[in-house]
Amino acid sequence: MTRGSSTARAVGIVTLVVAGLLGSAYVLGRSLVPDQTPRHSTGATTSADGPYYADQPSAGKPGATPSASASAGPVETGQDGSGRDAGGDNLFGAHATTGTPRLALTFDDGPDPRYTPQVLALLREYDVHATFCVVGENAQNHPDLVQSIVNEGHTLCNHSWHHDVGLGARSADAIRSDLLRTNAAIRAAVPNAPIVWYRQPGGAWTYPVVSVARQLGMTPLHWSVDPSDWDLPGASKITATVVSQAQPGSVVLLHDAGGDRQGTVDALRRILPDLTARFELEALPTDPT
Ligand SMILES: [Zn+2]
Repeated sequence: MTRGSSTARAVGIVTLVVAGLLGSAYVLGRSLVPDQTPRHSTGATTSADGPYYADQPSAGKPGATPSASASAGPVETGQDGSGRDAGGDNLFGAHATTGTPRLALTFDDGPDPRYTPQVLALLREYDVHATFCVVGENAQNHPDLVQSIVNEGHTLCNHSWHHDVGLGARSADAIRSDLLRTNAAIRAAVPNAPIVWYRQPGGAWTYPVVSVARQLGMTPLHWSVDPSDWDLPGASKITATVVSQAQPGSVVLLHDAGGDRQGTVDALRRILPDLTARFELEALPTDPT
């Protein structure tokens, strides 16, 4: 090999390395730059079957993490079994446990006429009260289901107007109008029902979204047990995760809308006998401290 060719080869290798580093930087940059396309900024799409939400960001799914949580650091979803309690670096003070020995079930993204009635029937059967984190547009479309939720003794949580995973990256004014619009849709169905909890879609908390929610009288609500039912792991896996990870004070994240939730409903049928035998279950209170 001549000196000239080895130099050329060295230059080639350096070029490849530099190109690789630039490529990595580009990918990293992409993950940090807010994606303004409607699909990613809201995490939602609409089909003939109703809205489908790309919900909780999932570790190991590149591109699934919304920009808001990328800038605030990764938001773990408790899949490692440890859960994430209030005071975690990324929760900005959002509650992740009940603060009592009691366990709370929470149902997100609804109401949905296919699944919410099934969830309500199972909760009724086991005399369990839960908390429903409703999406504004779904509350507007199904006021009868919002009324059923409240009439049966469950409590409400604001989950944004259109399941906006990137809401926390928007201006305080934009966040405020989104949350107020959602509360207005809920109150159109149940004028006097308290709405004292706010859950940020995707758990993508930011300081502004927590701050605005509190200004509007809503306490930020996270979770500590997440079976990732939105990712359709099947009823058995959802059941196993909830049953094995539940402990006193757990806030369990489940979904009654946003996609095919029959697996969640089927899991709930198995989860309720177990949890009610081991824990006292409660709807999150309407007077959080
Ligand atoms: Zn959600």
